[in-house]
Amino acid sequence: QEPLLQVNHLHVTFKTHGGQVSAVRGVDFTVNRGETLAIVGESGCGKSVTSLSVMGLLPASGKITQGSIMFDHQELTRLTKKQMRRIRGVDLSMIFQDPMTSLNPTLSIGTQMTEGLVHQNKVPRSEARKRAVDMLKLVGIPNPEERMKEFPYQFSGGMRQRIVIAMALICQPKLIIADEPTTALDVTIQAQILELFSRIQRETGVAMIMITHDLGIVAKIADRIAVMYAGEIVETGNKRDIFYHPRHPYTKALLDSIVRIDLPSDELHPIEGAPPDLFSPPVGCAFSDRCPFAMEVCDHVQPLTTQLDLHHRAACWLLDKRAQAVRETVEK
Ligand code: SF4
Ligand code: MG
Repeated sequence: QEPLLQVNHLHVTFKTHGGQVSAVRGVDFTVNRGETLAIVGESGCGKSVTSLSVMGLLPASGKITQGSIMFDHQELTRLTKKQMRRIRGVDLSMIFQDPMTSLNPTLSIGTQMTEGLVHQNKVPRSEARKRAVDMLKLVGIPNPEERMKEFPYQFSGGMRQRIVIAMALICQPKLIIADEPTTALDVTIQAQILELFSRIQRETGVAMIMITHDLGIVAKIADRIAVMYAGEIVETGNKRDIFYHPRHPYTKALLDSIVRIDLPSDELHPIEGAPPDLFSPPVGCAFSDRCPFAMEVCDHVQPLTTQLDLHHRAACWLLDKRAQAVRETVEK
């Protein structure tokens, strides 16, 4: 199957007062048509920056310094702002954590849902309104014809996120990127929204990237998973690979840290320590300070990616046959 999105060797840096930060450091992943890839990791690991890069929405201080983003036969890193805006209105949509980021408080729901279609995609207004009603029905807003006249403040948080999802779908995109879309919602609503994502995918066949720190969400929604740490993807695989056969020590630690209510709290295994400072990224493995298996080589040479299985890859010296040879050169 030919991938819809192929990200290769992506590097993103940010200029800050404190200097240059390497937020994304050589990320590779693909998303196939109709599938959900979850990108999971702790806050600050570069998962949001990766998704903003794909969307062409990096802030002015951020820059793609290397790499390629192929989406539906187009190299996105070479497009102008204007060309990118067109793609965002047609084939690519993004959903953020806070629905109010995407909603204009001063416009009715109907107006903001149809505006882009009418002006950018040149869809007749009556057709746009019909599509808006259909989308609101799809996401479970009762009486959509009536409620389209209302403003964002007249809806609950959960309903607002449903509206944002409807807005993301209205242009019939090929890919939706959702960054922590349920984090701001309470647990019951969260479950309903995740159900909604699954149903939408079944009914529309849209591909999704789900950005999250929550492995519970990943377990519910992902087909494939990419685990990020300190600006790199350390392991990728199918859901079963990652949950049942994790190979990278960080993935294992992450799975161990899931709060298990069946265990007394002193048996939890949070990951001790903190990720490295990306103002001066480590030379070797970024996880070595926290890794219980770290060896001499890990501090000196960055681990290469090992193909473990058709769809399963990880970057760790423990898994790499070349480790012995590299170790000998390091220890000499
Ligand atoms: Fe641990 Fe070394 Fe593997 Fe990094 S490369 S995860 S430090 S064993
Ligand atoms: Mg984030």
